[in-house]
Amino acid sequence: MTATQCPRCGQGSVQRHVFKATGKYIRVCDECEAVWPDDGVLDPHGFEDFEAFASQRGGAGRWDELSPAKH
Ligand SMILES: [Zn+2]
Repeated sequence: MTATQCPRCGQGSVQRHVFKATGKYIRVCDECEAVWPDDGVLDPHGFEDFEAFASQRGGAGRWDELSPAKH
């Protein structure tokens, strides 16, 4: 698995996860919990907060709502 440094906080790494409520891949920073779509650039101004992202899609923003991507 490749780790990408987070362009928002510069601290965490951005990893692919499956958001279980939708079954779709997203990319999430493990430090600041910024969320990006699975494709496209990691825009430092184009993220959503995981909690807000999840709450719009039937989740609560907990890490156990994510499954790490297999690759
Ligand atoms: Zn971050």
